[in-house]
Amino acid sequence: MPELACVNGQVMPISEAKIPIEDRGLQFGDSVYEVVRAYSGHLWLFDRHMQRLKMSLDEIGIEGVKLEEVEAQVKMLLKRSGIGDAIVYLQITRGVTPRSHVIPRNITPNVIITVRHVPQTPEELYTTGVKAVLLNDTRWARRDIKTTNLLPNILALNEARRRGAFEAILVEQADGTVTEGSHTNVFAVVNGVLRTPPADHRILPGVTREFVIELAAREGIEVNIAPLPVTELMEAEEVFLTGTLIEILGVTVLENKMVGSGTVGTITKRLHRAFREEVRKAIESSEA
Ligand code: PLP
Repeated sequence: MPELACVNGQVMPISEAKIPIEDRGLQFGDSVYEVVRAYSGHLWLFDRHMQRLKMSLDEIGIEGVKLEEVEAQVKMLLKRSGIGDAIVYLQITRGVTPRSHVIPRNITPNVIITVRHVPQTPEELYTTGVKAVLLNDTRWARRDIKTTNLLPNILALNEARRRGAFEAILVEQADGTVTEGSHTNVFAVVNGVLRTPPADHRILPGVTREFVIELAAREGIEVNIAPLPVTELMEAEEVFLTGTLIEILGVTVLENKMVGSGTVGTITKRLHRAFREEVRKAIESSEA
């Protein structure tokens, strides 16, 4: 199954895809992106990803993108690749101009899409859970926009991996509250209540996060969306991460301290089971 790219509507192998050196995405990080997962050829929560993409484009004022066309290109590329369990990467840059900080008028955005095989999360991690470490959140103030300015995120993740952890959980220095992971959202179970920080400017409004909140409500689990002090996280019965790639992944060690009893918690497992059941139903109804 070939991993393919589509650049402004033209399909090619990923290794052959090119963007000019004066693309503003390359020079300034002047671009936004999405990562969508396909299960058995079904684009999971695709509408929500497209809505968030629109929000990101609007927030930084990239104009002239026909999102219906982008949506059609994603579907076409996925089909042409023949990859069922795929990861679709979608990036829209403001376009190409001679380098200038000033945003020029009448510039044509570049639309880049790739389809690749999903880098599978080892199944045993859902049983054992993972380790996370705490790091200061050093990012800008508009983390709700999904821009490609990911340097603080990748440096934080790199530091976490250097310390043998799966993820860095980021903490706002000003008030000691948890924001999110370097590439995931964070949940905790405290006194049986599911806790997660609000989707304000300080975090990315994760598509998986939103879906998990809805799932929890359906499962009759009490949810409290409010600032989450790191002290509360450290005392939580359960902690888990959410994201398009990892789905729902338990954290069993936080800064070398066991979370709860040191095993993946019952609410985490229950939500992950319910999540996978929803995926199964979505695949079934898309095949019907
Ligand atoms: N937070 C950050 C900083 C991310 O980069 C991501 C995903 O890449 C997430 C949260 C999870 O978002 P989603 O569930 O939409 O994949």
